[in-house]
Amino acid sequence: MIKKVPMRQCLGCREMRPKRELIRVVRSPEGEVSLDLNGHSPGRGAYICPRSECFAKAKKSKAFERAFSAPVPDEVYASFAEELGENMSEALRMLSISRKAGKIEIGEESVLSCVESRKARLVLLASDAASNTAKRITSALSQTQIAYAVSPFTKEELGGALGKGICAVCAVCDLGLAAAVARSLERDDAEKYAQCAQQLRQTSERIEQRKQKKPGKKSGKKEN
Ligand SMILES: [Zn+2]
Repeated sequence: MIKKVPMRQCLGCREMRPKRELIRVVRSPEGEVSLDLNGHSPGRGAYICPRSECFAKAKKSKAFERAFSAPVPDEVYASFAEELGENMSEALRMLSISRKAGKIEIGEESVLSCVESRKARLVLLASDAASNTAKRITSALSQTQIAYAVSPFTKEELGGALGKGICAVCAVCDLGLAAAVARSLERDDAEKYAQCAQQLRQTSERIEQRKQKKPGKKSGKKEN
């Protein structure tokens, strides 16, 4: 039997999803509730989809309060909304989260160098990127297994999410985040992004399986 990727339940929609596609919300030992974008902060964790609907549902049902057995003030929700970029599409929001987590490279030169070092997991091009940029990127990618897609976002939209003004190309360098970005794109346009999302899902599964085959090599991180 194939081992599955770790799943967690979203506190908003209550669906089970791969842990790495969800955002961890943490209550620190000092009692402060915040988004844990790297997923490693100490404290009690709860998981939620990076969608405003799910935050709204969780707030309404007081799901965080129950998960943490502690009150969660409105300001905390407001700060989540701000931090997540309330009005962005989910894919852009995941990109913005990737940037905050330090897991994204922006601009052709940086992207090419992390493609070369194979750190890139997903390369995304702006819909209006120059054809020369596209050519250089796809030719660098042709020798690799790295996932690639032309995003539905313009240079300005990508740049806005990434705090850069304009951005013609970017690379997500974390597998979980890359899979989450691809999944969000797939939800909006299944036909165009299904293959890319599928590729990243398979890679995630392969890596999880490899990890689980190596007992005793667990990292010291506390899983929650
Ligand atoms: Zn959800």
